[in-house]
Amino acid sequence: MGELTTFPVSYKVEGKRIVIVGGGEEALNKARLAIKTTASVVIVARNIEIDFTALPVTVHARPFEADDLVEAALVFVADHGPDGEAAKLAARAARIPLNVVDVPEECDFYTPAIIDRAPVTIAVASEGDAPVLARLIRARIEAALSPNLGALARLAGSMRGRVAALLAGPRARRYYEELVTSPEVEVALLRGEGAEKAESLLDAHAGQGDTPGVVWLIGAGPGAEDLLTLRAQRLLQQADVIVHDHLVPAAAIEMGRRDAERILVGKKKGHHSFTQAEINGLIVRLAKQGKRVARLKGGDPMVFGRAGEEIDALKANGIAYHIVPGVTAALAAAADTATPVTLRRISTGFVIATAHGAEAEELRHWAALAGSGLTLALYMGGQIATETATRLVAEGASPTIPVGIVVRAGHNDRVLYRGTLGGLAGGDAELEAGPAIIFVGEAIAHGDWSDAIAFAQSEFKVA
Ligand code: SAH
Repeated sequence: MGELTTFPVSYKVEGKRIVIVGGGEEALNKARLAIKTTASVVIVARNIEIDFTALPVTVHARPFEADDLVEAALVFVADHGPDGEAAKLAARAARIPLNVVDVPEECDFYTPAIIDRAPVTIAVASEGDAPVLARLIRARIEAALSPNLGALARLAGSMRGRVAALLAGPRARRYYEELVTSPEVEVALLRGEGAEKAESLLDAHAGQGDTPGVVWLIGAGPGAEDLLTLRAQRLLQQADVIVHDHLVPAAAIEMGRRDAERILVGKKKGHHSFTQAEINGLIVRLAKQGKRVARLKGGDPMVFGRAGEEIDALKANGIAYHIVPGVTAALAAAADTATPVTLRRISTGFVIATAHGAEAEELRHWAALAGSGLTLALYMGGQIATETATRLVAEGASPTIPVGIVVRAGHNDRVLYRGTLGGLAGGDAELEAGPAIIFVGEAIAHGDWSDAIAFAQSEFKVA
């Protein structure tokens, strides 16, 4: 069972009149809404208190007459005197939908907050005490949609015949999508060159024939859906297939078109996952079928994302690709803990490295870097944190260097740990399961780790 007591509809007013009874501020507000339509807008009031001359409305400065409702599609009453009463009676007798401003019990209909992108309108309808929320939603949507969207939609509509002749099915959809979302088309439109641009874009699409699709290597960020970039979101909407890893947040996968195919390719401990060679083969094959493939990876695709191998495979097969950066886990962890990974006079640089599979020589190198003040962000070390710390100390890193660990950075249920390298090495810290970033370096002490669980007897001094 639904909860709505009203049903949002679009009501035809073309060729009819919208009658507003009243001559004050409230009448003006309704007139502003009514003139968005092609209906003729008529204002009737004994006292015209507002200057309506700037609006395309007909003003009758006289008492309401029953004939005012001839050919009326809708009636607004914004008059609290006898004219208002007469208009209400007349509207009800003639069964014309009535809105009495600010008197919900007397209304047949309410007006929504309107986002006008004619020929598309978004109406935010609210009931009861929700108009504040409706206004907020309206403001958000206004900000998110280009004001030229309606003009772009009309441009797309004007191309219908030519598109039908040249492009079929998904290729036509792609053309329209590009037409209404491309910033270049919008700029051309504003210069009055929209039609030419739409034509040349159509030629480009028609000329593509059956060429392969494209692969977008997209960073999905660390987990929170609002850490996805706008570009990632836009391309996900356009993709025919989404090929994703386990670490990719569900919300990001959801962001794709409803009918886009979704393929999970790994990689989680203990599950069968695709080999890298299989993934390379899969994205190449899909692109060769002419599909637009979103290869979605956690964090940033260029950081421990095996992007290099995928790019090689795409290049070898002559397939177009683009890369969309994402927020990498270490930077999400830095944000979670207000830790500046570079800091004047403390840390002159920031090293991203993998704990897993590190050779003794690499560890020696990093131990020296940490000693010189650089901040280390170690990926893939959650399960081997103690071992990694022990090896770093063995290779010469000072046991007093601060360490901070963030499990599930960027997620609401992240868990933080803090201490020193020696404390982590000597203790038996049991970290929660989940992807983890291990920070090592003096800058860590300058972050906010007050919510962190301390490793036994190894507090670093908070700076
Ligand atoms: N491309 C990803 C890294 C993939 S490698 C990125 O840029 O973030 C996988 C490793 O990334 C994990 O072992 C872990 O160290 C780290 N990682 C990924 N997501 C994480 C998260 N939300 N919190 C902490 N670490 C994360």
